[in-house]
Amino acid sequence: MLGQFIEEVYLLASQARSEGEVPVASMILEKVDSTYRFLCSSTNRIVTQADATSHAEMNCIKEACRIKKNERLIDCIMITTLEPCLMCTGAIILARLSRVYYFAPSMKGIGMSKIVNNPELNKGLNHKTELIFLEEEFPRASQMISSFFLAKRQNIQNSLTDRASGKQ
Ligand SMILES: [Zn+2]
Repeated sequence: MLGQFIEEVYLLASQARSEGEVPVASMILEKVDSTYRFLCSSTNRIVTQADATSHAEMNCIKEACRIKKNERLIDCIMITTLEPCLMCTGAIILARLSRVYYFAPSMKGIGMSKIVNNPELNKGLNHKTELIFLEEEFPRASQMISSFFLAKRQNIQNSLTDRASGKQ
């Protein structure tokens, strides 16, 4: 059911990478009858917008609310390459998305699963968003993100080496 949408999310994430962003992309689908229809998608735009809050999930939620002229996205689901961070988790719950599918767990271990899988914290939430880890996508998604950071570290290392050798 989600196959074609999943491919589009990967494509978007790789476009973000080519713009110097961490390759993260999200998509919101709207339930129409018994199927899901594309509503909107976004990537991280932290660097391009010079905005620390411009995460793919946040951008998507804002766009979906604007399209639907509604602050609640009860009949919508999200697909995202990386487990939402704490900021995006807050926005997802506020927007009342019904379900979130993600491909790779948070690299720092502090993401949406820590909130929704914690009975104490979950009890206090006024909306329960179902969170689903698409394990079969994990190898591809984590490779995409880790290769981005590896290349970034190598670039930094190369520029340091260049600078050091320039001094001699
Ligand atoms: Zn986030």
